[in-house]
Amino acid sequence: MFSQIRWRIALNFALLVTAVLGGLAYYLLRPACVGDSDCIGRGLLVGGAFLVTATVVLAVLVAERTTGPIRQLTKVIRRINNGELDAHMLPIRRDEIGTLILAFNGMMETLGERVTSLEESQRQLATVLAYMADGVLILDERGRVELINPAATRLLQTKSAQALNHRYAEVVRHHKLIELWQLCRDTGQEQLEAVEIGRELFVQVVFTPFQQQGARGYLVILQDLTQVRHLQTVRRDFISNLSHELRTPLASLRAVMDTLHDGALDDPPAAQRFLKRAAGEVDTMTQMVEELLELSRIESGRVPLRLKQTAVSDLVLPPLDRLSPQAQRADIDLRIDLPANLPLVLADSVRVQQVITNLVHNAIKFTPNGRITISAQLNHKKARGQVTISVADTGTGIANEDLPRIFERFYKSDRARTRGQGGTGLGLAIARHIVERHNGRIWVQSKEGKGSTFYFSLPIAAE
Ligand code: ADP
Repeated sequence: MFSQIRWRIALNFALLVTAVLGGLAYYLLRPACVGDSDCIGRGLLVGGAFLVTATVVLAVLVAERTTGPIRQLTKVIRRINNGELDAHMLPIRRDEIGTLILAFNGMMETLGERVTSLEESQRQLATVLAYMADGVLILDERGRVELINPAATRLLQTKSAQALNHRYAEVVRHHKLIELWQLCRDTGQEQLEAVEIGRELFVQVVFTPFQQQGARGYLVILQDLTQVRHLQTVRRDFISNLSHELRTPLASLRAVMDTLHDGALDDPPAAQRFLKRAAGEVDTMTQMVEELLELSRIESGRVPLRLKQTAVSDLVLPPLDRLSPQAQRADIDLRIDLPANLPLVLADSVRVQQVITNLVHNAIKFTPNGRITISAQLNHKKARGQVTISVADTGTGIANEDLPRIFERFYKSDRARTRGQGGTGLGLAIARHIVERHNGRIWVQSKEGKGSTFYFSLPIAAE
């Protein structure tokens, strides 16, 4: 089948030849030319020259018309190569070139849609990788890092530039993580294990081999289980502490009952003594259970705070009134140092009084005839907008190794344990929770043998 362009060239050429032949025939058939060989020779020469020139002009025109769109197409392809995906040509013609331009534009449109959808999927994938909590790495067959997400750089304490294209073993520098990868590489099987990285970090690592375009690769997932493990430890410690704390009074009760059973009942004064001891142990257990319930209620947020604008003196004085007879009996000098113009604080007075009672009660317990000073001051520097209340004693002090754990549930120093100084080890934990629920902070400074100062801050009430 003849194409449109060929038809046009053929038609143009036929018209040209017809015109030239027509002109030549007209020239040669003139009466003045018939029989004149010079005239015929000139006519043929001029006609031939005409035909050659016209053919050349026609060829140039046809070539120009055919290659023009191809040059334009080359330009558009170059622009597309430089990233201008929306570059296209105008379909100004109806012949094959026009059809080619239409097909080209259609192809570019489809390609553009595909690229946009690919870019969208890539963006979504990059967002997932950037924000997911788990660390992700992709290793190539030789164990070079092809991809690492921010969570993985954080867990492995590296930077993406230091990891990409580097050997996995150089990036992780942890023998267990390297061993697991080698095992995965050698067996071709998925490997899963919980690994402790450093002192603080506990991660579950999954190595999965995969095939990609004929080559093998490895997907590494790092899940941070530090928090989960911490919670498990806290729960385990809590149960073991609770059983430990209950064992002593229960054993003591058992001993009292055995003694009574073995004949002490027949000796009324001794029976009275033993019953008093039993009542003491029951009181200890009751206090522990009550404090535990209290702690769990505060921790779970089930105790709503009744926050009110309160004067610091209203928080400090009532507990001191209650505890001063006890301090007197222990020969302790109890002092109060409250500046006159302290602003009001935003506090649940019952709860904050409980904190002060716990702190002063401890101070009395751990200060054999010394001094306890309760003071308050408005913060000017770091924690602006807060008032700090402190309870300082000149007592036994707290050993350095105990200081970081003093606010944990059930924590008692060895000294407090061995001296059998009453207490459940829950008082400071309760105090910490109450203060933190007020958006405050509680901390301690202490020197063994010199004394301790407990501080806590409370937000001041808005004007
Ligand atoms: P407890 O009810 O047993 O006193 P706390 O939680 O109030 O429990 O205190 C925990 C531990 O902190 C105590 O057993 C003691 O070892 C230590 N401690 C608290 N206050 C003081 C203090 N003022 N001086 C010395 N040690 C203290």
